[in-house]
Amino acid sequence: KVRVRFAPSPTGGLHLGGVRTVLFNYLFAKKHGGEFVLRIEDTDQTRFVAGAEEYILECLEWCGLIADEGPHIGGPYAPYRQSERKQLYRQYAEQLVENGYAYYAFDTPDELEAMRDREKINGNQSPQYNHHIRHTMRNSLTLTKEEVNELLANNTPHVIRIKMPTDTSVTFTDMIRGEVTFNSGTVDDKVLLKADGMPTYHLAVVVDDYLMKISHAFRGEEWLPSAPVHILLWRYLGWEDAMPEWAHLPLILKPDGNGKLNKRDGDRLGFPVYAMNWTDPRSNEFTRGFREMGFLPEAFVNMLAMLGWNDGTGQEIFSFEELLQKFSIERVHKAGAKFDFEKAKWFNHQYIQKKTGEELATLFAPVLDEKDIQADPATVAVIANLVKDRLHFVNEIWDQGFFFFQAPTTFDNEAVKPKWTPEKQAFFEEWMQQLATVPTFDLATIESSFKNLAAEKGIKVGELQLPFRIMLTGGKFGPAVFAIAEVLGAVETIARIKTALP
Ligand code: GLU
Repeated sequence: KVRVRFAPSPTGGLHLGGVRTVLFNYLFAKKHGGEFVLRIEDTDQTRFVAGAEEYILECLEWCGLIADEGPHIGGPYAPYRQSERKQLYRQYAEQLVENGYAYYAFDTPDELEAMRDREKINGNQSPQYNHHIRHTMRNSLTLTKEEVNELLANNTPHVIRIKMPTDTSVTFTDMIRGEVTFNSGTVDDKVLLKADGMPTYHLAVVVDDYLMKISHAFRGEEWLPSAPVHILLWRYLGWEDAMPEWAHLPLILKPDGNGKLNKRDGDRLGFPVYAMNWTDPRSNEFTRGFREMGFLPEAFVNMLAMLGWNDGTGQEIFSFEELLQKFSIERVHKAGAKFDFEKAKWFNHQYIQKKTGEELATLFAPVLDEKDIQADPATVAVIANLVKDRLHFVNEIWDQGFFFFQAPTTFDNEAVKPKWTPEKQAFFEEWMQQLATVPTFDLATIESSFKNLAAEKGIKVGELQLPFRIMLTGGKFGPAVFAIAEVLGAVETIARIKTALP
């Protein structure tokens, strides 16, 4: 049975890379008729941030990637918050100690500090608690059994560390990278259980993936160096047969490909990196999100799918149903995926084209509300359709079509004046009279009366269209000018011509 999990730590906003991990988990699970579990990894109480879990849930909801089990709905393996599972982990850590795979370490912060200083003096610039060092420290490998028992009986603060083998090859098969091998001697003796009784990520991820019967574990590439610790823990706990298949997902890189994309790159280059707006409750630091910037969730999701995956055909636009059918973890690349904000906007543009005018009008309504503009939704839908091929974001309907909602107050006179003639003046004065009496004020009628009168007066239509456009919009831009007039209606069109005429 396929069971996957997304296991975020509630430490802040959700990076787009995190949402991509969710997406790949979700697609894989659903494609195989499996289950998708949300587990909150909140064992590091120093990094816990209030509100982050709710924020994560809201992000998943916005993207339509809802977990089948998790703290929000429970499930057969509840609780799904690791802090609520605290009591569970110690027994496994102690079992590891009993079997000689882990040990108690009683070193005080001062002793650890002294060790690091000593090592640095000896030329070791990044001292680690490892197989070189552990024999010089205060732990159950160096103390007698009696000393250890006494320290434990006295509740002396201690941690439990894994005893990494000195020189063993640890190999596993990653679904994306193939066979990956580490030498155990290069990895330090990671803490498994902390002094406060909480497990570290290393212990908790293994215990919970086991207890929650996870079949496939997908996580960011930044966790690859920890994989040997986890592989050994699966082995040492006697669960190797149940170990999930691993896939370490490629990093999302800065636009120039130079390193991992982080929040500061977004701030610097003016694009979001988080899924939704996030304000850190401790510092009040604000980070903007794709949602608030105006991304449609379906465009955001499609864009994320393409960061590290493709179906091999060059196709870029995939409906969610197509992604469900076509996604396969084997086609996820090893190499990091460069994030390109222009491309992200292109995806949004594509998805805006798929929306009806009515849908766009609904999405645009808050912008009009904010400006205190009352407009008939049916008219807004027509306007949205007229401008949608120019939009990257729905709120740009305003920039592209503000003149539909309010008469222009400035006019691009420079574009008209040099070629203005008394004949043109006469044309517009006469045409205004005609417009007031046309039986129906629709595009075809407006256009034919304009063209007929121009022909009658011997003026080129092109010479008249630009001034007309500027009368209606103030500038040289916008959709087809007769379509604008049709939306504005006879009264408003005539009024604007009158106002603009010299
Ligand atoms: N809690 C880890 C994180 O936030 C999860 C890594 C994993 O999925 O195993 O990155």
